[in-house]
Amino acid sequence: MNLEQIAKNDHARWQELAQEARQRIETRLFIDGAWVDALDGGRFATVDPSSGETLAEMSAGTEKDIDRAVSAARKAFRSGCWSGMAPRDRMAVLYRFADLVARHTEELAVLETLDMGKPISDVINVDVPLVCETIRFMAECIDKVDGAVTNTAPDAMHLILREPLGVVGAITPWNYPMLMASWKFAPALAAGNCVVLKPAEQSPLTSTRLAELFMEAGGPAGVFNVVNGIGEVAGQALALHNDVAKITFTGSTAVGKLMLQYAGQSNMKHVGLECGGKSPQIFMSDLPDLDRAVEAAYCGIYENMGEVCNAGSRLLVERPIYDEFVERFVSEGQHAYRPGQPLDPETSMGPLVTKADQQRVLGMIEAGKAEGARLAFGGDAPQALEPGAFVNPTLFADVNNGMTIAQQEIFGPVACVIPFDGVDDAIRIANDTIYGLAASVWTRDIDKAMHMVRAVESGILWVNTFDAGDYTQPFGGYKQSGNARDKCIDSFKSYTQTKSAWIQLSRP
Ligand code: NAD
Repeated sequence: MNLEQIAKNDHARWQELAQEARQRIETRLFIDGAWVDALDGGRFATVDPSSGETLAEMSAGTEKDIDRAVSAARKAFRSGCWSGMAPRDRMAVLYRFADLVARHTEELAVLETLDMGKPISDVINVDVPLVCETIRFMAECIDKVDGAVTNTAPDAMHLILREPLGVVGAITPWNYPMLMASWKFAPALAAGNCVVLKPAEQSPLTSTRLAELFMEAGGPAGVFNVVNGIGEVAGQALALHNDVAKITFTGSTAVGKLMLQYAGQSNMKHVGLECGGKSPQIFMSDLPDLDRAVEAAYCGIYENMGEVCNAGSRLLVERPIYDEFVERFVSEGQHAYRPGQPLDPETSMGPLVTKADQQRVLGMIEAGKAEGARLAFGGDAPQALEPGAFVNPTLFADVNNGMTIAQQEIFGPVACVIPFDGVDDAIRIANDTIYGLAASVWTRDIDKAMHMVRAVESGILWVNTFDAGDYTQPFGGYKQSGNARDKCIDSFKSYTQTKSAWIQLSRP
Protein backbone atom coordinates (compact mmCIF):
# COMPACT_ATOMS: atom_id res chain seq x y z
CA MET A 1 0.00 0.00 0.00
CA ASN A 2 1.50 3.36 -0.96
CA LEU A 3 1.35 6.64 0.93
CA GLU A 4 -1.39 8.07 -1.26
CA GLN A 5 -3.68 5.14 -0.51
CA ILE A 6 -2.84 5.26 3.20
CA ALA A 7 -3.60 8.98 3.30
CA LYS A 8 -7.18 8.13 2.29
CA ASN A 9 -7.82 6.28 5.57
CA ASP A 10 -10.35 8.20 7.65
CA HIS A 11 -10.69 8.14 11.44
CA ALA A 12 -13.03 5.14 11.39
CA ARG A 13 -10.61 3.14 9.22
CA TRP A 14 -7.68 3.95 11.52
CA GLN A 15 -9.74 2.91 14.52
CA GLU A 16 -10.54 -0.38 12.79
CA LEU A 17 -6.84 -0.93 12.03
CA ALA A 18 -5.94 -0.04 15.61
CA GLN A 19 -8.47 -2.54 16.93
CA GLU A 20 -6.91 -5.26 14.77
CA ALA A 21 -3.39 -4.23 15.82
CA ARG A 22 -4.32 -4.42 19.52
CA GLN A 23 -5.27 -8.09 19.06
CA ARG A 24 -1.85 -9.08 17.80
CA ILE A 25 0.64 -6.98 19.73
CA GLU A 26 4.01 -8.72 19.95
CA THR A 27 5.19 -8.52 23.55
CA ARG A 28 8.41 -10.53 23.31
CA LEU A 29 12.03 -9.52 22.85
CA PHE A 30 13.88 -10.03 19.57
CA ILE A 31 17.22 -11.72 20.21
CA ASP A 32 19.46 -13.63 17.81
CA GLY A 33 16.79 -13.58 15.13
CA ALA A 34 14.09 -15.12 17.34
CA TRP A 35 11.17 -13.99 19.50
CA VAL A 36 11.83 -14.78 23.14
CA ASP A 37 10.31 -13.95 26.50
CA ALA A 38 12.43 -12.32 29.19
CA LEU A 39 14.30 -14.98 31.16
CA ASP A 40 12.95 -13.82 34.53
CA GLY A 41 9.40 -13.59 33.16
CA GLY A 42 8.90 -9.97 34.24
CA ARG A 43 6.40 -7.68 32.53
CA PHE A 44 5.69 -3.97 32.23
CA ALA A 45 2.58 -2.30 30.89
CA THR A 46 2.53 -0.10 27.84
CA VAL A 47 -0.37 2.34 27.85
CA ASP A 48 -2.29 4.28 25.20
CA PRO A 49 -1.90 7.86 26.48
CA SER A 50 -4.97 9.09 24.62
CA SER A 51 -7.24 6.87 26.74
CA GLY A 52 -5.16 5.54 29.62
CA GLU A 53 -5.95 2.00 28.47
CA THR A 54 -3.23 -0.66 28.84
CA LEU A 55 -2.26 -1.90 25.41
CA ALA A 56 -0.10 -4.85 26.43
CA GLU A 57 2.02 -6.34 29.16
CA MET A 58 5.44 -6.38 27.57
CA SER A 59 8.29 -8.75 28.35
CA ALA A 60 10.66 -6.83 30.63
CA GLY A 61 14.27 -7.60 29.78
CA THR A 62 16.79 -7.70 32.60
CA GLU A 63 20.56 -8.02 32.84
CA LYS A 64 20.25 -11.68 31.77
CA ASP A 65 18.44 -10.79 28.55
CA ILE A 66 20.87 -8.00 27.82
CA ASP A 67 23.68 -10.47 28.29
CA ARG A 68 21.98 -12.92 25.94
CA ALA A 69 21.51 -10.21 23.31
CA VAL A 70 25.06 -8.88 23.62
CA SER A 71 26.45 -12.43 23.34
CA ALA A 72 24.41 -13.02 20.19
CA ALA A 73 25.57 -9.69 18.75
CA ARG A 74 29.20 -10.42 19.61
CA LYS A 75 29.02 -13.86 18.05
CA ALA A 76 27.49 -12.38 14.90
CA PHE A 77 30.13 -9.65 14.82
CA ARG A 78 33.04 -12.03 15.23
CA SER A 79 31.67 -14.39 12.58
CA GLY A 80 31.99 -11.60 10.00
CA CYS A 81 28.54 -12.46 8.61
CA TRP A 82 27.72 -8.75 8.59
CA SER A 83 30.93 -6.76 9.04
CA GLY A 84 32.64 -8.98 6.47
CA MET A 85 29.82 -8.83 3.95
CA ALA A 86 30.83 -7.17 0.68
CA PRO A 87 29.93 -3.47 0.98
CA ARG A 88 27.43 -3.45 -1.83
CA ASP A 89 25.73 -6.57 -0.47
CA ARG A 90 25.38 -4.87 2.91
CA MET A 91 23.98 -1.83 1.12
CA ALA A 92 21.48 -4.01 -0.71
CA VAL A 93 20.20 -5.47 2.58
CA LEU A 94 19.74 -1.99 4.01
CA TYR A 95 17.97 -0.69 0.91
CA ARG A 96 15.59 -3.67 1.05
CA PHE A 97 15.12 -2.95 4.76
CA ALA A 98 14.16 0.67 3.99
CA ASP A 99 11.75 -0.54 1.29
CA LEU A 100 10.14 -2.98 3.72
CA VAL A 101 9.72 -0.28 6.35
CA ALA A 102 8.02 1.92 3.73
CA ARG A 103 5.79 -0.98 2.70
CA HIS A 104 4.72 -1.47 6.33
CA THR A 105 3.98 2.22 6.95
CA GLU A 106 0.35 1.64 7.89
CA GLU A 107 1.10 -1.14 10.38
CA LEU A 108 4.02 0.71 12.00
CA ALA A 109 2.09 3.98 12.14
CA VAL A 110 -0.83 2.43 14.01
CA LEU A 111 1.50 0.91 16.60
CA GLU A 112 3.41 4.16 17.08
CA THR A 113 0.27 6.24 17.47
CA LEU A 114 -1.33 3.81 19.92
CA ASP A 115 1.84 3.61 21.96
CA MET A 116 2.90 7.24 22.34
CA GLY A 117 -0.04 9.31 21.11
CA LYS A 118 1.64 10.92 18.12
CA PRO A 119 -0.91 12.09 15.50
CA ILE A 120 -1.24 9.39 12.86
CA SER A 121 -0.71 11.87 10.01
CA ASP A 122 2.65 12.86 11.51
CA VAL A 123 3.82 9.26 11.71
CA ILE A 124 2.86 8.67 8.10
CA ASN A 125 4.19 11.90 6.65
CA VAL A 126 7.20 12.51 8.86
CA ASP A 127 8.39 9.64 11.03
CA VAL A 128 8.23 6.64 8.70
CA PRO A 129 9.54 8.44 5.59
CA LEU A 130 12.44 9.80 7.65
CA VAL A 131 13.25 6.37 9.06
CA CYS A 132 13.52 5.10 5.47
CA GLU A 133 15.63 8.08 4.48
CA THR A 134 17.95 7.54 7.44
CA ILE A 135 18.51 3.91 6.52
CA ARG A 136 19.11 4.77 2.86
CA PHE A 137 21.46 7.66 3.64
CA MET A 138 23.57 5.52 5.95
CA ALA A 139 23.59 2.67 3.43
CA GLU A 140 24.96 5.11 0.84
CA CYS A 141 27.88 5.87 3.16
CA ILE A 142 29.06 2.26 3.19
CA ASP A 143 31.30 2.49 0.16
CA LYS A 144 31.71 6.26 0.17
CA VAL A 145 33.53 6.68 3.49
CA ASP A 146 37.14 5.63 3.03
CA GLY A 147 40.22 5.03 5.05
CA ALA A 148 43.45 6.69 3.88
CA VAL A 149 47.00 6.20 2.70
CA THR A 150 49.13 8.94 4.19
CA ASN A 151 52.24 10.57 2.80
CA THR A 152 55.29 8.91 4.30
CA ALA A 153 58.98 8.61 3.55
CA PRO A 154 59.66 6.08 0.75
CA ASP A 155 60.65 3.35 3.21
CA ALA A 156 57.12 2.93 4.54
CA MET A 157 53.52 2.63 3.51
CA HIS A 158 50.94 3.85 5.99
CA LEU A 159 47.32 2.74 5.72
CA ILE A 160 44.55 4.07 7.91
CA LEU A 161 41.80 1.48 7.96
CA ARG A 162 38.31 2.35 9.10
CA GLU A 163 36.73 -0.52 11.01
CA PRO A 164 33.45 -1.09 12.85
CA LEU A 165 33.53 -0.97 16.65
CA GLY A 166 31.83 -4.30 17.42
CA VAL A 167 28.65 -4.42 19.50
CA VAL A 168 26.81 -1.10 19.73
CA GLY A 169 24.25 -0.62 22.49
CA ALA A 170 21.54 1.89 21.58
CA ILE A 171 19.28 3.44 24.23
CA THR A 172 16.51 5.58 22.81
CA PRO A 173 13.66 7.89 23.88
CA TRP A 174 9.91 7.77 23.27
CA ASN A 175 9.28 11.08 21.49
CA TYR A 176 10.10 9.75 18.00
CA PRO A 177 10.46 6.07 18.88
CA MET A 178 11.27 4.69 15.43
CA LEU A 179 13.07 7.74 14.09
CA MET A 180 15.39 8.25 17.07
CA ALA A 181 16.15 4.52 17.05
CA SER A 182 16.96 4.69 13.33
CA TRP A 183 19.38 7.57 13.90
CA LYS A 184 21.32 5.03 15.99
CA PHE A 185 20.86 1.61 14.44
CA ALA A 186 21.11 2.75 10.80
CA PRO A 187 24.65 4.22 10.96
CA ALA A 188 25.78 1.51 13.39
CA LEU A 189 24.57 -1.28 11.11
CA ALA A 190 25.77 0.43 7.94
CA ALA A 191 29.26 0.70 9.41
CA GLY A 192 29.26 -3.05 10.03
CA ASN A 193 28.48 -3.21 13.74
CA CYS A 194 25.97 -5.45 15.47
CA VAL A 195 23.31 -3.73 17.55
CA VAL A 196 21.42 -4.25 20.80
CA LEU A 197 18.65 -1.68 21.01
CA LYS A 198 16.87 -0.83 24.28
CA PRO A 199 13.87 1.35 23.39
CA ALA A 200 12.07 3.58 25.88
CA GLU A 201 9.60 1.65 28.03
CA GLN A 202 6.84 4.16 27.20
CA SER A 203 6.96 3.18 23.50
CA PRO A 204 8.22 -0.38 23.05
CA LEU A 205 5.96 -1.59 20.23
CA THR A 206 7.67 -0.65 16.98
CA SER A 207 11.37 -1.39 17.50
CA THR A 208 11.10 -5.17 17.63
CA ARG A 209 9.12 -5.08 14.39
CA LEU A 210 11.89 -3.03 12.76
CA ALA A 211 14.47 -5.63 13.79
CA GLU A 212 12.28 -8.35 12.33
CA LEU A 213 11.99 -6.43 9.04
CA PHE A 214 15.78 -6.09 8.95
CA MET A 215 16.01 -9.87 8.98
CA GLU A 216 13.29 -10.19 6.37
CA ALA A 217 15.48 -7.93 4.21
CA GLY A 218 18.34 -10.42 4.50
CA GLY A 219 20.10 -9.20 7.65
CA PRO A 220 21.75 -12.12 9.47
CA ALA A 221 20.45 -13.33 12.85
CA GLY A 222 22.07 -11.69 15.87
CA VAL A 223 23.03 -8.51 14.00
CA PHE A 224 20.04 -6.45 15.17
CA ASN A 225 18.59 -7.34 18.57
CA VAL A 226 15.95 -5.51 20.60
CA VAL A 227 15.53 -5.86 24.35
CA ASN A 228 12.58 -3.97 25.79
CA GLY A 229 12.72 -3.17 29.47
CA ILE A 230 12.98 -0.55 32.16
CA GLY A 231 15.78 2.01 31.84
CA GLU A 232 17.28 1.47 35.27
CA VAL A 233 17.37 -2.29 34.68
CA ALA A 234 17.85 -3.22 31.02
CA GLY A 235 19.29 0.14 29.98
CA GLN A 236 21.78 0.20 32.81
CA ALA A 237 22.85 -3.39 32.14
CA LEU A 238 23.49 -2.56 28.50
CA ALA A 239 25.50 0.56 29.32
CA LEU A 240 27.55 -1.34 31.92
CA HIS A 241 28.21 -4.36 29.71
CA ASN A 242 31.87 -5.05 29.15
CA ASP A 243 31.34 -6.45 25.64
CA VAL A 244 29.57 -3.36 24.37
CA ALA A 245 32.01 -1.18 22.44
CA LYS A 246 29.81 1.91 22.25
CA ILE A 247 26.68 3.24 23.90
CA THR A 248 24.74 5.55 21.67
CA PHE A 249 22.11 7.35 23.71
CA THR A 250 19.28 9.79 23.08
CA GLY A 251 17.34 10.99 26.07
CA SER A 252 17.48 13.35 28.99
CA THR A 253 20.63 15.12 30.11
CA ALA A 254 20.34 13.52 33.58
CA VAL A 255 20.41 9.98 32.17
CA GLY A 256 23.03 10.98 29.58
CA LYS A 257 25.37 11.82 32.46
CA LEU A 258 24.77 8.34 33.89
CA MET A 259 25.94 6.86 30.58
CA LEU A 260 29.33 8.49 31.08
CA GLN A 261 29.52 7.03 34.59
CA TYR A 262 28.55 3.55 33.40
CA ALA A 263 31.26 3.70 30.74
CA GLY A 264 33.81 4.66 33.38
CA GLN A 265 32.65 1.92 35.73
CA SER A 266 32.93 -0.74 33.04
CA ASN A 267 35.09 -0.86 29.93
CA MET A 268 35.59 2.79 28.89
CA LYS A 269 33.23 2.22 25.99
CA HIS A 270 32.62 5.05 23.53
CA VAL A 271 29.63 7.15 24.57
CA GLY A 272 27.60 9.19 22.09
CA LEU A 273 25.02 11.46 23.71
CA GLU A 274 22.05 13.35 22.27
CA CYS A 275 20.30 15.01 25.18
CA GLY A 276 17.93 17.80 26.10
CA GLY A 277 17.51 21.33 24.83
CA LYS A 278 16.02 24.75 25.53
CA SER A 279 16.40 26.18 22.07
CA PRO A 280 16.05 29.93 21.49
CA GLN A 281 14.46 31.43 18.41
CA ILE A 282 15.75 35.01 18.18
CA PHE A 283 13.46 37.44 16.36
CA MET A 284 15.21 40.72 15.51
CA SER A 285 12.99 43.69 14.74
CA ASP A 286 14.31 43.78 11.15
CA LEU A 287 13.17 40.21 10.41
CA PRO A 288 12.08 39.68 6.81
CA ASP A 289 8.53 38.38 7.25
CA LEU A 290 6.60 38.53 10.52
CA ASP A 291 3.90 36.08 9.33
CA ARG A 292 6.47 33.43 8.53
CA ALA A 293 8.34 34.11 11.77
CA VAL A 294 5.26 33.78 13.96
CA GLU A 295 4.26 30.59 12.18
CA ALA A 296 7.75 29.17 12.75
CA ALA A 297 7.43 30.15 16.40
CA TYR A 298 4.20 28.26 17.11
CA CYS A 299 5.01 25.29 14.86
CA GLY A 300 8.45 25.10 16.45
CA ILE A 301 6.97 24.57 19.91
CA TYR A 302 3.62 22.84 19.30
CA GLU A 303 4.73 20.26 16.73
CA ASN A 304 4.83 16.75 18.23
CA MET A 305 3.14 18.17 21.36
CA GLY A 306 6.34 20.06 22.15
CA GLU A 307 8.00 16.72 22.86
CA VAL A 308 10.95 17.62 20.65
CA CYS A 309 14.54 17.93 21.85
CA ASN A 310 15.18 20.96 19.64
CA ALA A 311 11.75 22.55 20.23
CA GLY A 312 11.95 26.33 19.96
CA SER A 313 10.79 26.75 23.54
CA ARG A 314 12.34 30.19 24.18
CA LEU A 315 11.11 32.92 21.84
CA LEU A 316 13.42 35.92 22.19
CA VAL A 317 11.71 38.93 20.62
CA GLU A 318 13.32 42.35 20.16
CA ARG A 319 11.44 45.05 22.02
CA PRO A 320 10.20 47.16 18.99
CA ILE A 321 8.22 44.20 17.57
CA TYR A 322 7.45 42.49 20.89
CA ASP A 323 3.79 43.52 21.33
CA GLU A 324 2.86 42.83 17.73
CA PHE A 325 4.64 39.48 17.79
CA VAL A 326 2.79 38.34 20.93
CA GLU A 327 -0.53 39.60 19.54
CA ARG A 328 -0.05 37.66 16.30
CA PHE A 329 1.07 34.55 18.16
CA VAL A 330 -2.08 34.72 20.28
CA SER A 331 -4.41 35.23 17.31
CA GLU A 332 -2.81 32.65 15.02
CA GLY A 333 -0.98 30.19 17.25
CA GLN A 334 -3.73 29.62 19.78
CA HIS A 335 -5.87 27.52 17.47
CA ALA A 336 -3.29 26.23 15.00
CA TYR A 337 -2.85 23.01 16.96
CA ARG A 338 -5.93 21.46 18.54
CA PRO A 339 -5.61 18.52 20.89
CA GLY A 340 -7.61 15.58 19.59
CA GLN A 341 -7.70 11.83 19.12
CA PRO A 342 -4.38 10.90 17.50
CA LEU A 343 -5.93 8.26 15.25
CA ASP A 344 -7.98 10.97 13.55
CA PRO A 345 -5.98 12.09 10.48
CA GLU A 346 -7.24 15.65 11.06
CA THR A 347 -5.61 15.82 14.51
CA SER A 348 -2.47 17.91 14.78
CA MET A 349 -1.81 17.47 18.51
CA GLY A 350 -2.09 14.24 20.46
CA PRO A 351 -1.71 13.59 24.18
CA LEU A 352 1.58 13.75 26.05
CA VAL A 353 3.26 10.40 26.39
CA THR A 354 1.98 9.54 29.87
CA LYS A 355 -0.35 10.86 32.54
CA ALA A 356 2.74 11.54 34.67
CA ASP A 357 4.17 13.72 31.91
CA GLN A 358 0.88 15.61 31.67
CA GLN A 359 1.04 16.29 35.42
CA ARG A 360 4.71 17.29 35.20
CA VAL A 361 3.99 19.79 32.39
CA LEU A 362 0.97 21.21 34.23
CA GLY A 363 3.25 21.58 37.26
CA MET A 364 5.75 23.58 35.16
CA ILE A 365 2.89 25.81 34.03
CA GLU A 366 2.00 26.46 37.67
CA ALA A 367 5.65 27.35 38.32
CA GLY A 368 5.51 29.85 35.43
CA LYS A 369 2.43 31.51 36.88
CA ALA A 370 3.87 31.56 40.39
CA GLU A 371 7.10 33.16 39.19
CA GLY A 372 5.20 35.98 37.48
CA ALA A 373 5.10 35.08 33.78
CA ARG A 374 1.93 36.22 31.99
CA LEU A 375 -0.24 33.33 30.82
CA ALA A 376 -1.47 34.48 27.39
CA PHE A 377 -3.47 31.32 26.61
CA GLY A 378 -3.76 27.63 27.49
CA GLY A 379 -2.26 26.45 30.73
CA ASP A 380 -4.66 23.58 31.34
CA ALA A 381 -5.81 20.17 30.14
CA PRO A 382 -8.79 19.86 27.77
CA GLN A 383 -11.58 18.44 29.95
CA ALA A 384 -13.40 16.83 27.03
CA LEU A 385 -10.41 14.57 26.36
CA GLU A 386 -10.10 13.17 29.88
CA PRO A 387 -8.72 10.67 30.88
CA GLY A 388 -6.16 11.15 28.08
CA ALA A 389 -2.86 12.84 28.93
CA PHE A 390 -3.57 16.00 26.90
CA VAL A 391 -2.36 19.54 27.56
CA ASN A 392 -3.66 22.58 25.69
CA PRO A 393 -1.17 24.64 23.67
CA THR A 394 0.15 27.24 26.07
CA LEU A 395 1.86 30.60 25.73
CA PHE A 396 3.64 32.55 28.45
CA ALA A 397 4.60 36.15 27.66
CA ASP A 398 6.83 38.55 29.61
CA VAL A 399 9.09 35.71 30.67
CA ASN A 400 12.40 36.38 32.34
CA ASN A 401 15.17 33.99 31.32
CA GLY A 402 15.90 33.22 34.97
CA MET A 403 12.45 31.68 35.50
CA THR A 404 12.06 27.93 35.84
CA ILE A 405 10.03 27.73 32.61
CA ALA A 406 12.88 29.42 30.71
CA GLN A 407 15.63 27.29 32.24
CA GLN A 408 14.17 23.78 32.46
CA GLU A 409 13.21 21.60 29.54
CA ILE A 410 9.39 21.38 29.71
CA PHE A 411 9.00 18.85 26.89
CA GLY A 412 5.40 19.86 26.32
CA PRO A 413 3.43 22.46 24.31
CA VAL A 414 4.52 25.47 26.34
CA ALA A 415 6.15 28.50 24.69
CA CYS A 416 7.89 31.33 26.57
CA VAL A 417 8.28 34.78 25.02
CA ILE A 418 11.19 36.80 26.36
CA PRO A 419 11.80 40.44 25.36
CA PHE A 420 15.33 41.73 24.65
CA ASP A 421 17.18 44.87 23.57
CA GLY A 422 19.70 44.52 20.75
CA VAL A 423 22.10 41.87 19.49
CA ASP A 424 24.32 41.55 22.57
CA ASP A 425 21.35 41.16 24.89
CA ALA A 426 19.90 38.47 22.59
CA ILE A 427 23.18 36.53 22.57
CA ARG A 428 23.52 36.82 26.34
CA ILE A 429 20.01 35.44 26.93
CA ALA A 430 20.32 32.76 24.23
CA ASN A 431 23.52 31.42 25.82
CA ASP A 432 22.25 31.66 29.40
CA THR A 433 21.32 27.97 29.58
CA ILE A 434 23.02 24.66 30.28
CA TYR A 435 21.82 23.46 26.88
CA GLY A 436 23.04 24.16 23.36
CA LEU A 437 21.18 21.98 20.90
CA ALA A 438 19.64 24.37 18.37
CA ALA A 439 18.81 28.02 17.79
CA SER A 440 17.51 30.31 15.09
CA VAL A 441 18.03 33.93 14.20
CA TRP A 442 15.52 35.94 12.20
CA THR A 443 16.92 39.10 10.60
CA ARG A 444 17.40 40.76 7.20
CA ASP A 445 20.85 41.93 8.19
CA ILE A 446 23.55 39.49 7.05
CA ASP A 447 26.15 41.01 9.38
CA LYS A 448 23.93 40.53 12.41
CA ALA A 449 23.02 37.03 11.28
CA MET A 450 26.62 35.92 10.76
CA HIS A 451 27.73 37.48 14.02
CA MET A 452 25.04 35.52 15.84
CA VAL A 453 25.78 32.31 13.95
CA ARG A 454 29.24 32.53 15.50
CA ALA A 455 28.23 33.79 18.93
CA VAL A 456 25.30 31.55 19.82
CA GLU A 457 26.44 28.38 21.56
CA SER A 458 24.51 25.65 19.81
CA GLY A 459 25.14 22.68 17.56
CA ILE A 460 22.56 23.74 14.98
CA LEU A 461 21.76 27.31 13.96
CA TRP A 462 19.08 28.31 11.49
CA VAL A 463 18.76 31.72 9.86
CA ASN A 464 15.28 32.90 8.82
CA THR A 465 13.87 29.40 9.22
CA PHE A 466 13.46 26.77 11.90
CA ASP A 467 13.95 23.02 11.98
CA ALA A 468 14.98 22.86 8.35
CA GLY A 469 17.68 20.58 7.00
CA ASP A 470 18.55 17.37 5.26
CA TYR A 471 20.72 14.36 5.93
CA THR A 472 23.97 16.19 5.32
CA GLN A 473 23.22 18.23 8.45
CA PRO A 474 24.97 17.16 11.65
CA PHE A 475 22.30 16.97 14.36
CA GLY A 476 23.59 17.34 17.89
CA GLY A 477 24.34 19.71 20.69
CA TYR A 478 26.87 21.88 22.44
CA LYS A 479 27.18 21.99 26.24
CA GLN A 480 24.83 19.67 28.15
CA SER A 481 22.80 18.88 25.04
CA GLY A 482 25.33 16.16 24.31
CA ASN A 483 28.46 15.32 22.38
CA ALA A 484 27.28 13.30 19.37
CA ARG A 485 26.16 14.20 15.86
CA ASP A 486 23.35 12.19 14.30
CA LYS A 487 22.16 12.05 10.68
CA CYS A 488 25.31 13.16 8.84
CA ILE A 489 28.39 11.37 7.48
CA ASP A 490 30.14 12.08 10.79
CA SER A 491 27.45 9.99 12.43
CA PHE A 492 28.41 7.02 10.25
CA LYS A 493 32.07 7.59 11.08
CA SER A 494 31.33 7.70 14.80
CA TYR A 495 30.44 4.02 14.61
CA THR A 496 33.89 3.21 13.24
CA GLN A 497 37.40 3.40 14.60
CA THR A 498 40.62 3.89 12.73
CA LYS A 499 43.43 1.39 12.66
CA SER A 500 46.86 2.51 11.61
CA ALA A 501 48.81 -0.10 9.65
CA TRP A 502 52.42 1.01 9.21
CA ILE A 503 54.27 -1.17 6.71
CA GLN A 504 58.04 -1.02 6.69
CA LEU A 505 59.47 -1.36 3.18
CA SER A 506 62.96 -2.23 2.00
CA ARG A 507 64.34 -1.18 -1.32
CA PRO A 508 64.02 -4.28 -3.59
P1 NAD B 1 15.08 9.46 29.42
O1 NAD B 1 16.45 9.95 29.63
O2 NAD B 1 14.17 9.36 30.57
O3 NAD B 1 15.10 8.01 28.76
C1 NAD B 1 15.82 7.75 27.59
C2 NAD B 1 16.20 6.29 27.56
O4 NAD B 1 17.07 6.03 28.65
C3 NAD B 1 15.02 5.32 27.72
O5 NAD B 1 15.21 4.22 26.87
C4 NAD B 1 15.11 4.91 29.17
O6 NAD B 1 14.57 3.63 29.42
C5 NAD B 1 16.61 4.91 29.36
N1 NAD B 1 17.03 5.04 30.75
C6 NAD B 1 16.43 5.73 31.75
N2 NAD B 1 17.13 5.62 32.90
C7 NAD B 1 18.21 4.86 32.62
C8 NAD B 1 19.32 4.39 33.38
N3 NAD B 1 19.46 4.68 34.67
N4 NAD B 1 20.25 3.64 32.76
C9 NAD B 1 20.13 3.34 31.45
N5 NAD B 1 19.10 3.73 30.68
C10 NAD B 1 18.15 4.49 31.26
O7 NAD B 1 14.48 10.39 28.26
P2 NAD B 1 13.04 10.35 27.62
O8 NAD B 1 12.09 10.91 28.62
O9 NAD B 1 12.75 9.00 27.04
O10 NAD B 1 13.21 11.33 26.37
C11 NAD B 1 13.09 12.69 26.49
C12 NAD B 1 14.45 13.33 26.49
O11 NAD B 1 15.15 12.97 25.32
C13 NAD B 1 14.37 14.84 26.47
O12 NAD B 1 15.30 15.37 27.37
C14 NAD B 1 14.77 15.19 25.04
O13 NAD B 1 15.31 16.45 24.88
C15 NAD B 1 15.76 14.12 24.73
N6 NAD B 1 15.92 13.95 23.29
C16 NAD B 1 17.08 14.42 22.69
C17 NAD B 1 17.24 14.31 21.31
C18 NAD B 1 18.50 14.81 20.64
O14 NAD B 1 18.74 14.44 19.50
N7 NAD B 1 19.31 15.64 21.28
C19 NAD B 1 16.24 13.73 20.54
C20 NAD B 1 15.09 13.26 21.17
C21 NAD B 1 14.94 13.38 22.54
